[in-house]
Amino acid sequence: MQRRVLIRTRGLAAFRQALVDLATAGDPLAARRRVVVVPTRAAGSLLRLTIEAQARARGETAVVCADLVTRDEWLARLLPALSPTPRWLSRIERLVLFERAVHDTLERRSGLARPFDLRPGLVAAMLDFYDELRRRQRRVRVFARTIFDELRVERGTDRGSEGLIDQTRLLGFAFLAYERAARQSGGVDEHELRRRLLEEQPALPFDDLVLAVADHPADPRGVWPADFDLIGRLRTLAGLHVVMTDEAHDAGFRARVEQELPGIEERRVPDVPSSPVLVAESPADLRDDVPVAVSRDREDELRQVARYVRARAADRDGCLAGPTAIVFHRPLPYLYLAQQVLTDARVPYQAFDALPLATEPYAGLLDLALAVARTGGARDGILALLRSPLAAIAVDGEPVMPGDVQALADLLAERRAPGGAATFGEQVARWADEDARRAARAPRLVRVARAAAAVAGALAACGTAPAASAQVQCLAAFLRAVERRPPADADRARRARSAVLGVLDALAEAYRRHDDRPRSHDDLAAAIYHAIEGQTFAPARGDGGVHLVDAASARFGAFDDVCLVGLVETDWAERQRRNFFYSAGLLKALGWPQDTDQTLAQQAAFRDVLHLAQQRTRLSAFELDGETVVALSTMIEAARALPVVVESLPDVGPLFADEILTRDAATTWMDDDASAWLAARRARPDLDTPAYGGFVAQRPPDVYRVSQVDRYVTCPFKYFAAHVLRLAEERPETTGLSPLERGTFLHLLFERFYERWQQDGHGAVTDATMPEAQAIFGEIAEELLAHLPPQDRAVERLRIKGSIVAPGVADRVLELEVASGEPVAARRLEVPIDGAFVFPLRGGLTSTTITIRGKADRVDILGDGALRVIDYKLGRLPDLETSVQVAVYGHCARQVIEAEDGRPHPVADAMYLAFGDDRRFDGRMPGRTETEVSLAVEARAGVFADVVGRIEAGVFPPRPRRASECQWCGFAGVCRKEYRIEDDDGAAEPV
Ligand code: SF4
Repeated sequence: MQRRVLIRTRGLAAFRQALVDLATAGDPLAARRRVVVVPTRAAGSLLRLTIEAQARARGETAVVCADLVTRDEWLARLLPALSPTPRWLSRIERLVLFERAVHDTLERRSGLARPFDLRPGLVAAMLDFYDELRRRQRRVRVFARTIFDELRVERGTDRGSEGLIDQTRLLGFAFLAYERAARQSGGVDEHELRRRLLEEQPALPFDDLVLAVADHPADPRGVWPADFDLIGRLRTLAGLHVVMTDEAHDAGFRARVEQELPGIEERRVPDVPSSPVLVAESPADLRDDVPVAVSRDREDELRQVARYVRARAADRDGCLAGPTAIVFHRPLPYLYLAQQVLTDARVPYQAFDALPLATEPYAGLLDLALAVARTGGARDGILALLRSPLAAIAVDGEPVMPGDVQALADLLAERRAPGGAATFGEQVARWADEDARRAARAPRLVRVARAAAAVAGALAACGTAPAASAQVQCLAAFLRAVERRPPADADRARRARSAVLGVLDALAEAYRRHDDRPRSHDDLAAAIYHAIEGQTFAPARGDGGVHLVDAASARFGAFDDVCLVGLVETDWAERQRRNFFYSAGLLKALGWPQDTDQTLAQQAAFRDVLHLAQQRTRLSAFELDGETVVALSTMIEAARALPVVVESLPDVGPLFADEILTRDAATTWMDDDASAWLAARRARPDLDTPAYGGFVAQRPPDVYRVSQVDRYVTCPFKYFAAHVLRLAEERPETTGLSPLERGTFLHLLFERFYERWQQDGHGAVTDATMPEAQAIFGEIAEELLAHLPPQDRAVERLRIKGSIVAPGVADRVLELEVASGEPVAARRLEVPIDGAFVFPLRGGLTSTTITIRGKADRVDILGDGALRVIDYKLGRLPDLETSVQVAVYGHCARQVIEAEDGRPHPVADAMYLAFGDDRRFDGRMPGRTETEVSLAVEARAGVFADVVGRIEAGVFPPRPRRASECQWCGFAGVCRKEYRIEDDDGAAEPV
């Protein structure tokens, strides 16, 4: 007969003591035949530390205790009880099996509606739902019957309920197919394990089970009704202890345990007194009598905590009097921030919580390889991979250097080369042939081109291999071949590498075993991302110092001081995850708990944590979560019951680099290099000296790119950052073709079209020739589209040809020409504007010569000899009131063509065509007549000369043309805009 005991404790101190006693009770053999289920591995580590600390305090040098495991680990411990021991189906294997089950279902049942597109993320959500059903002891047929019963009344009345019926049918059949497939695989999942354990009642590897976790919904890491059912019916399990605090008991856990394990005996253990106080560092921190230190954002909050910890240790020679913990509800932001903030503040810390594997750098290398495999070696992706510091790619035994990769990137951009890796070699050869002086540099670029082609070739099998396992193996083999192996002492990097490669190997094996159909690039990438995202990773972070721990695990540690952080509405309480498939009402019929159960449980857990510290608790929150203003958590109300002490702690002085720099603090602890740097930094002139406002020394005349000078007009500091300091611009992440790739593609498309149009003897595009122009354009577009990765082809085709809701760029350009009605005598494409040109100054009273380099996209020579100059813009139209680019092209093209034929060629039209502007496609230089346009062009050329004069005078103030520029500016991170906001300019408003 199984002995079942519910142990009640008043607070967390007694809860921990009860667990320590249970984990170590009896002789060593008895202890080793006991298992304690805790919510997380971090909780297990903390409980082990608590047990060891007590043993040390008793003078014992060794202690034997029970196995401390999570729920999943406990289930895995039960597997060897079955004979012969079956194979455990991993999550990755189960996902592959489930995907196959869904496909088989759809194939066999052709009449079944598809209520949604099957994506790997959705397959995972379906499997999660299936697991939850089974864990709530709902069989598949019961699930389907229940939902059909609920929907019966609404059937045929609206499309929503019809959709839910289709969805239920698909889910039901897929669940049954998965169960069949799992059985046939020879492996077991947790549901089959429970079934067989109950059927076979084998001898277990342990006699006693201690549950130190709550159940669902109180704890997402807790036990489920199906687990209770298993525990209660396992005849070979001798004893069960469920340990809970009074708070958890009163919040409904007791009632649910009673329901699952009727007749459980209840015992109360003696209380372990602890009476923590709430610490306020200043009376200003009191909010309605509760002391909460509120910072600006999370980082600032953690800095204040570091300051508090240092202040506590200040009068003990830098040592804390007792164990201290920083406790949070959402681990990730704090674990990442701690690496920087606590390290800067020289506060040693230890953390047991896991981090996502997907954020480790090695996963980034995988990401780059997947991008190359997906695009077949498109330019930006492959160059990024070649540049990656995690890859060591060599050709003929010589490594490819990042500088050479950048040189090839510049060359391809300069030539507007449209192709992928296979064409790089040809581009380099042509480039070298054009100028004998390039021969010396060419071999290095040829080597990079060869490396790119080899990488693209090696990854090509990811798309073409006949089996999914081979596709994944191709990727794993590539990573192993090109990776720069982490050094022996880089433990974290080595473990992350093993974990990523382990996931790929496991996925390949799962495909090979269960469903080896080849996958599309997108499906393969999504499955890999999903498998990686499902993995966490616990790098060793310190073995002493302040504990960083999540609230569920903190219950298992003994701490004198606790800093409860992140007390905002978005962190405490945790929001319940919504079910992807059904509303709360329908799920209620399936026995799902309601929100109130979870809320009560979370409030109870918070009240427990408020009493976690033996001595002091410090509460803190912040106002801004990213850009969003957040309110304090309403749970703080529960702290009202605790006594408050206002303490004035010693000032620990500047702790962080910025504080040290801004205050005149002693820096004796710095090494020589850091001290020298700081001395130089402090010796710099005041920030209001002109140099800090963008006024630097005179610069010698240069060769100017017109588009770059346009940047100066937008904001002089942008030009300074990009073209004087040569800083890289921060760009938002994009999918598909990069802006550069798309620009190259569209330029080439129009160039080829107009070349052919002219060669065929056509002049202007007119109403009559429009259909022919469209046909030729379409033909050339398809030829070029064929070079794009298949995934990007459809998007770009839509952009070029348009849809029923929006015309494509082809029609917009051609219609514009038809509307102008001007006859075109000749058309010049990609006109080089290279060399020294004369520009007017002071309204034409004087002039100057400026050397420029550029290319006018298109110059039409109209019937009367006047010029129409066109510049393509990939994004939006530039500011037509200030932009100088197209006017300068017009001004220079006029000089070039007049020098050629000696005839006058005034600029009659100068315009931008913006392919990325949905509101307005074309923008012209102002002027109704040819004379007005010509004058406007000359005036803008004068502005250009003026701007070049300012560049050469070293004048680069942060003065955006419009304040809104700053919103999207890629240099906002380095801009000193706050120092130079002047009042005499339209833009002189605070930005
Ligand atoms: S952030 Fe504003 S002021 Fe600074 S460089 Fe960008 S646009 Fe200019």
